[in-house]
Amino acid sequence: MGGTLVATGIALVVLSGYVLSCAVRPFRDCWLCDGKAHHRSKRNPKLSRPCRWCRSTGKRLRLGRRLWNKARRVHRNA
Ligand SMILES: [Zn+2]
Repeated sequence: MGGTLVATGIALVVLSGYVLSCAVRPFRDCWLCDGKAHHRSKRNPKLSRPCRWCRSTGKRLRLGRRLWNKARRVHRNA
């Protein structure tokens, strides 16, 4: 019983820390282009093309923030 409580407490701390970090820094560098907004083609390494994953912004909205935005939208429409 006590172990479950501790595990829940740790999960809550980790979750709130993650939510807080998403609120402070909603964007992170794109994993594909490493924040450069362009990535090199695998077939032709000399060719640099706009990153489609981040729409050549170099930034990606973090998952937690995306869920937050979605939750807010649902709340507003309700
Ligand atoms: Zn990218």
